[in-house]
Amino acid sequence: MSWAAHEFENYFIQRHVGLKASFLAIMLGTSIPDLFTKSFVYASADPAYFHRGWPGVGFTHSLIFGVAFAALILAVTRSRSWALGVLIGQWAHVFTDVADTAGVMPFFPFSTEPLTISMWKHAAAEGRYGDAAAYYSSLGGVWDLFWFVVVLVFARNTLKRSYFRDVIVPADPRVWGWMHRTLRLPEQALLLVYRGLLFYGLGRMIVWFLYARFDARTPFQPAWGGPAYIQGNDLSDAGALEVIGRTSIGAVLFAAFLWICWRLFIRRLWRRGYDPPMTARGTGVRAVFGARQLDAA
Ligand SMILES: [Zn+2]
Repeated sequence: MSWAAHEFENYFIQRHVGLKASFLAIMLGTSIPDLFTKSFVYASADPAYFHRGWPGVGFTHSLIFGVAFAALILAVTRSRSWALGVLIGQWAHVFTDVADTAGVMPFFPFSTEPLTISMWKHAAAEGRYGDAAAYYSSLGGVWDLFWFVVVLVFARNTLKRSYFRDVIVPADPRVWGWMHRTLRLPEQALLLVYRGLLFYGLGRMIVWFLYARFDARTPFQPAWGGPAYIQGNDLSDAGALEVIGRTSIGAVLFAAFLWICWRLFIRRLWRRGYDPPMTARGTGVRAVFGARQLDAA
């Protein structure tokens, strides 16, 4: 699992999808897998297995879970930018979690073999605080910092007010407009909400890192497979060839399943769905917030 990378990723993804997906939907998508699992994980007798395995709630960290969620959103709201955002966000979360020793089952249920590159140890068995200390004593903490730098270097523009006006709001005028009118939040407050996730991730990263160094006092061991002081949680003892074989079969079956779903019903849902109505540069945000308020800002 990651403590802040999932938050930082959102802005990097946003830079690439532009007007096609809602940022709020991407945010929801990247938080879905842990939303359904995190609160139970630490209370479980075998946290790593419960979080990522099968039987357990490991299916929340599979691509099919994102497809099901996105299809449901498309069916209910008809919004393409929401369905796409949730799908991309959830898939990004799945592939990010490949890095810890518990791994994920991306092609569940067609393969239940965990896929992992074992960059750091899944440490949920240590409880919430022990988990955080272990994560920020391993390459996990470095991984968070890497994503923060990636956002600053490559996706800095997404944090600007002009980007918020030109892309973020026009890609999702209904929800931002609703927050503006019903919650009576001025543009400045909505901009704070939008940028807030970055500060949340940054705060988490700094505070837990300091906690690990000065309170838990765990040794900082940013080497592959660390930290050495805790026991790893490998869910499978399969060799590399077996993992590659089963994962490949799972991938092919998943792709076939996806194609069948597309032909059977997702294509129909997509066609009756709509794109955000105001995607012309500059006009969208004025319609949502009103020209007068923007001119005053
Ligand atoms: Zn996760």
